[in-house]
Amino acid sequence: MIKNIIFDLGNVLLKFKPEEFLLQYTNDEDYIKQFVPKITRSKLWLDLDRGLESLENAERIFVSRYPEEEELISLFFKHWMEMLTPIEENISILLDLSESGYNTYILSNYIKEAFKFVKEKFNFFTLFDGQIISGEENVIKPEKAIYETLLRRYQLIPEESLFIDDVFFFLKPAKKLGISTIWNRPHTDLRKELKKFNISI
Ligand SMILES: [Mg+2]
Repeated sequence: MIKNIIFDLGNVLLKFKPEEFLLQYTNDEDYIKQFVPKITRSKLWLDLDRGLESLENAERIFVSRYPEEEELISLFFKHWMEMLTPIEENISILLDLSESGYNTYILSNYIKEAFKFVKEKFNFFTLFDGQIISGEENVIKPEKAIYETLLRRYQLIPEESLFIDDVFFFLKPAKKLGISTIWNRPHTDLRKELKKFNISI
């Protein structure tokens, strides 16, 4: 029987669509498309996720790396947290789970400054029974250690736990440990998927 529901944050509970967000500031879609991966798919971004680098320092490094793009880099770093907005239909599922007595947790790769920001901004964070945030633990998904840290810290039994993530390969280590998983794709009906595990909400 599932008792614990573990949520990823980005694109499960909070939207993270940098391209879409930056298009508010420019109409040049091709420029945005080449720009965003240079930031969010860089090793430096992973270091941010892992809590090894500060946002302030990362901005400086990106500017020195791509001086011709200083303007967009500054804009991105100044405003990017504003794009972290709740995915309302999934927040309402979280609320229902919590009200029905399920324990809820976060397991997310998230930059620590950004986590602090969203935690202060949105009330739903008070619902969770625990959280493992990569930037605070200095370990990232899909590394086995972060999943083990979650199980150990909150004394969770894998067979009673279900993990929801939008990135398929972040589910694999969880599965290996015996945790059930749901791959939350853009068109996934999360409520329906949860019901397949006899979760009554
Ligand atoms: Mg995600």
